[in-house]
Amino acid sequence: MTVRTRIAPSPTGFPHVGTAYIALFNMCFAKQHGGEFILRIEDTDQLRSTPESEQMILDSLRWLGLNWVEGPDIGGPHAPYRQSERMHIYKQYALELVEKGHAFYCFATPQELDQMRAEQQARGETPKYDGRGLKLSQEEVERRLAAGEPHVIRMKIPEEGICKVNDLLRGEVDIPWAQVDMQVLLKTDGLPTYHLANVVDDHLMQITHVFRGEEWLPSAPKHQLLYQYFGWEMPVLGHMPLLRNPDKSKLSKRKNPTSINYYRDIGVLPEALLNYLGRMGWSMPDEREIFSLQDMISHFDIQRVSLGGPIFDVEKLHWLNGQYLKAMTPAQLLETLLAWQGNRQKLEDIAAAIQPRIHLLSEAVDWAGFYFNHMPKITAEQFESKKLSPEQVRQSLQFAIWRLEGMFSWNNDSVSQTLMDLANQMEIKLRDFMPAFFVAIAGSTSSTPVMQSMVTIGPDLTFARLRHALKIIGEPSKKEEKIWQKLNEQLKLPKNNTVESSE
Ligand code: GLU
Repeated sequence: MTVRTRIAPSPTGFPHVGTAYIALFNMCFAKQHGGEFILRIEDTDQLRSTPESEQMILDSLRWLGLNWVEGPDIGGPHAPYRQSERMHIYKQYALELVEKGHAFYCFATPQELDQMRAEQQARGETPKYDGRGLKLSQEEVERRLAAGEPHVIRMKIPEEGICKVNDLLRGEVDIPWAQVDMQVLLKTDGLPTYHLANVVDDHLMQITHVFRGEEWLPSAPKHQLLYQYFGWEMPVLGHMPLLRNPDKSKLSKRKNPTSINYYRDIGVLPEALLNYLGRMGWSMPDEREIFSLQDMISHFDIQRVSLGGPIFDVEKLHWLNGQYLKAMTPAQLLETLLAWQGNRQKLEDIAAAIQPRIHLLSEAVDWAGFYFNHMPKITAEQFESKKLSPEQVRQSLQFAIWRLEGMFSWNNDSVSQTLMDLANQMEIKLRDFMPAFFVAIAGSTSSTPVMQSMVTIGPDLTFARLRHALKIIGEPSKKEEKIWQKLNEQLKLPKNNTVESSE
């Protein structure tokens, strides 16, 4: 039997270091066993998935050197590798389970289910699907299906007892069935949920081992049961510890940049980032800190994964990267530097931006430095405004982050439109609104046009700098954040036509 592992990212955002971490361990395991590592795109969530995100994920994993032997971009014997192109496959499997008596139709409307949950909560119970679809008679189900009533297909779940899941890293994990919901397998629109598509595809793609983040452990009973219902052999499961911030909370972009592209943009080498991720919960048998992907594969042993949450510490990553830089010859370092900033289009954009401002070529260094910096040096005083309250300045940065994060095409039009709309909706004149952005991005209010600079430095550095600025002038507290989120949404709504009283 050939060992086959996979990474199965959902293309719903920027490429996350956690995805690279899981991909690395799956790849090492497969290679160490002479097996195959493949990539599948799980885009069943059609509202949140975008082709731009998929492209960024593929590019960044490839930049790291985590190459797959089958995938949506290169094909393979189990193509297609993008779930949105496999939609015709899943329904028959859901129907098979209905036929075998392992799944059932449910016609409850979202309103009915909301009411059910509200009643459960009022009784002090944990909200959970109450099995109402199971109570329908065969005739009623057939009548309602024939009438074309909207419905979903849910899987049956034992009402009591304990589900025992074998985890290669954790041993036997016991999860009471009472904690497991009767999962929807096929949605009202006839499309599969993650759980159905994931199990069907892992089976059809002959995946033998699944290493994934521990946030999926609560789903393991459903998956195990699906394999049993279908009569298929289940891949061996291993749930990896989640990466954590230095304060031990789950790694989040609020505290630490999480996009792989951010680390690329600040000049972390792909080999150093992989080396660092390889040390997350794992170590070489001789405990050496610096090792290549090949070293890791040669000495890989999944049993050496330790389950205490590994800390993703940016300072340590920088130190490790420094070791790689120091080990180079000056000529190699020069080549690396040139390759890092060798994007001609970017350099030309910078030249165009500084052109009206310089008289001597040597002045280019002062005007253009911030395009290459990691973080400009800034202080809270630089954000003080004669026209805006400190709260307005903080809100403008935070709202901008939320709005810019929600858009995928990063160009002059989209960035300027987003910021101008925000200023408009906050009823702030653009000339009062923009200085905070100049300081956050370029470190000074006298700089090249800032919206263009944001486009040139790219989304990842832009977010990191805006977040850094917000940290300096005061991030919203958890409570404030909730209120601000609502406010930001309200601002987007068209203004009510207030009736003016005529005198
Ligand atoms: N699409 C899921 C994710 O993005 C995959 C989880 C799994 O590996 O089963 O995390």
